Amino acid sequence: MNEQPVIITGGGIGGLTTAIAIGQTGRAVLLVERAPRFEPIGYGIQIGPNALHVLERLGLAQEVLAHSSILDRGILSDALNNTPFAELPMGEALIARFGQPYAVIHRGDLHEVLVAACEALPSVQLRNDFEVAGIEDTGTKVIVTATDGTHLDGACLIAADGIWSTIRNQLFPGTPPPFTSRYAAFRCLRPVEEIPAHLVSNVVNLRCGDDFHMIHYPLRNGTLFNLVAGMRVPDHIAMDDRDGVVAHFEGVFANASDEVRQLLPFIDRSRFWAVSNLIPLHRWTKGRVALTGDSAHAMVQAMAQGACQAIEDAFVMAKHLDGAGTIETAFARFEEERRSRATYVQYRSLFMWELIHARGGWRDLRKEQLGSMTGEDFFAQLDWLYSAAPGSKLADELSWAATTQAAA
Ligand SMILES: Cc1cc2nc3c(=O)[nH]c(=O)nc-3n(C[C@H](O)[C@H](O)[C@H](O)COP(=O)(O)OP(=O)(O)OC[C@H]3O[C@@H](n4cnc5c(N)ncnc54)[C@H](O)[C@@H]3O)c2cc1C
Repeated sequence: MNEQPVIITGGGIGGLTTAIAIGQTGRAVLLVERAPRFEPIGYGIQIGPNALHVLERLGLAQEVLAHSSILDRGILSDALNNTPFAELPMGEALIARFGQPYAVIHRGDLHEVLVAACEALPSVQLRNDFEVAGIEDTGTKVIVTATDGTHLDGACLIAADGIWSTIRNQLFPGTPPPFTSRYAAFRCLRPVEEIPAHLVSNVVNLRCGDDFHMIHYPLRNGTLFNLVAGMRVPDHIAMDDRDGVVAHFEGVFANASDEVRQLLPFIDRSRFWAVSNLIPLHRWTKGRVALTGDSAHAMVQAMAQGACQAIEDAFVMAKHLDGAGTIETAFARFEEERRSRATYVQYRSLFMWELIHARGGWRDLRKEQLGSMTGEDFFAQLDWLYSAAPGSKLADELSWAATTQAAA
């Protein structure tokens, strides 16, 4: 075993899951996070069957599912006239097809499960208040420097430091920064009893406007109502012009259905996210440094896969670090196994983003194409992403012959 720890920067879903997956092999891991506490933003997140297959292999699925809700279906509707045009079964039929459910969970609950799993592993050390400023790969180790000048030595560095990664540009100078889709996302999490009862049901509701969308679903056994409203910000308003963006928000839903407008008062206007995207990278790794999660492949959230892909990264990274060969070889194998799949998910997410915000005749086409699809048709379309059946890409990722993986 290598004496120096694997250093992970970033205690988000990606970094924590990577720490668990590697820590379960017995290898020392030191995860550093710049925030004083491991605390995500307090909203919901959707976890697809692909990520649950990974969490199952890590021995975490049961705990995650204990805090999750399994919804009956996903309904896509026209947000202008409240007409549903597509329905994806999400209950038993989806579980029967993909071997794992489609879950929704409060991010805080997911984080708690992941942090507790890290803390339960003697091989994993967590350290807060450590903001990585720079790295040096000496060829035999990495030296990680914090903004306060502190140094750490590690066998290698895994950068799970999110879409605005500090490490990415140090590793690959000249990489274009993430670009904004010019959409802003506003969120809301409220006790369910505050929401008009006719708008609450056990489904993921995706309401597609032209320049806007709304998605909502219940959380924590139906006690909370999670809502995200996204809208396109016109070019004359800068994405960092908070007042301008919020002022535009007030008007953009004017032609939306009553149902959408009834939900607007619940939206928190004090904060919004500029929906951003990363142009797919040619490389994720160099020497003893690797990018994972959003730092490697941030995507628009149209397929709810950003965190799910980070979870897949975690498993594949641990698998290759546990295999024979050097760290450099393991990182290269990780990149080879993961890059094209995650890049494809980035691409499909952009496509879905366009579909959600279709305008003019595209809206008619969307209705024609999706309206005729059965639940089985949707499953067939999602097979490449969710299925872990023998021969699938996910099954390959999950194949790990090592005997050291504690939970396998
Ligand atoms: C509105 C919205 C809805 C979404 N919904 C879904 C969904 O339903 N399903 C899904 O799968 N995905 C969803 N996503 C995407 C998902 O949130 C991200 O893809 C995922 O959180 C990325 O995880 P990560 O660990 O790679 O990065 P992050 O969660 O960004 O974590 C990065 C961590 O690194 C830390 N950090 C950053 N820089 C440094 C540094 N220099 N030193 C030390 N620490 C540092 C940060 O503090 C942070 O804790 C959504 C995103 C948005 C915006």
